[in-house]
Amino acid sequence: MTRPDAPTPRMPVLFVGHGSPMNAIDDNAWSRGFQALGKDLPTPRAILSVSAHWYIDGTLLTADAEPETIHDFGGFPRALYEIRYPARGSEEIARRVARLLEARRAGLSLDWGLDHGTWTVLRHLRPGADVPVVQLSIDRRLAPAEHLAIGRALAPLSDEGILIMGSGNVTHNLRHAFRSMQTGDTTRPPWAERFDAEVERALVAHDPDHLVRVIATEDGRASHPSLDHYLPLLYAAGAAAGSSAAVDFPVSGWDLGSLSMRSVRFAAS
Ligand code: ZN
Repeated sequence: MTRPDAPTPRMPVLFVGHGSPMNAIDDNAWSRGFQALGKDLPTPRAILSVSAHWYIDGTLLTADAEPETIHDFGGFPRALYEIRYPARGSEEIARRVARLLEARRAGLSLDWGLDHGTWTVLRHLRPGADVPVVQLSIDRRLAPAEHLAIGRALAPLSDEGILIMGSGNVTHNLRHAFRSMQTGDTTRPPWAERFDAEVERALVAHDPDHLVRVIATEDGRASHPSLDHYLPLLYAAGAAAGSSAAVDFPVSGWDLGSLSMRSVRFAAS
C-alpha cells in the first residue's frame, strides 16, 4: 500500500504497437504481452496517450472528465463495439501538458475521447481503468523532427508520475497487410524487416534523431505510406531522449506479414 505522501516514482516511457483492434478481445501473443507489461509497471498518476488515430490539424488534449470510448473502425464483430474503457480523464493533467506545449499553441478539446489506439491496449495494460487518461493529438502538418521536439518537451511529465505512451506500429503498410489477409501469404517483406531492425538499432543506441532520418528512406516510405502510425514513436523517443537508461522490447513479433508489433520501454533512469 502506497502512503499518500510517498513520492511519485519516475515513470518509464512506452511505445506500444497496437496492431488490429481485435487485439482488444483476442487472447494472443500481443494481448498477453500487454498484460505482462502492465503488471511490470509502477502505478502512474495519469497516462498521456499519443495515438496514431488522433491525427489532425493541431495539437490538442482531451479534457473530458469522462472520456468517451471511441470505436473508430468498421467491419469488426459486435463484441468489439460493446467494449467501454471507463477511465476518467483529467482536465488538470491536460492543462499541465498544454502548458509544456505552449510554444505549439496546444489547446484543450471536448470533441474526442479515447480512440482504439489507446483503449485496445490499455484494456490489457491497465484492466482496472483506475488511472486517469488524457490523449494528445498528432498535428499532421508538422515534420517528423517537430514531432520529436514535442516529445522532448514532454520529458518532465515522467518525473511527475505521468506515463507517456505512444501508440502506433513500427511498420504499418495497410495495403500490404490487407493483401496478406486476403491471400493468407504472411511472408515478411524485406523492407519491413530492414526498417524494423534499423529502428531497433537507433533505439538501443539512444539516437532518436536517427528515427527522423530513417523515415525518409525508401524502406521508411514502404513501411509508412502515411506517417500516422510512426509518429507516436517519435513522441516516446523524444520524451526519453535525455536518459541513458536501458531500452527494451517487452512485446515483439509480426502480424499480417508486414506489421511489426514491437513495443518499446524506455526505462526510468
Ligand atoms: Zn492503428
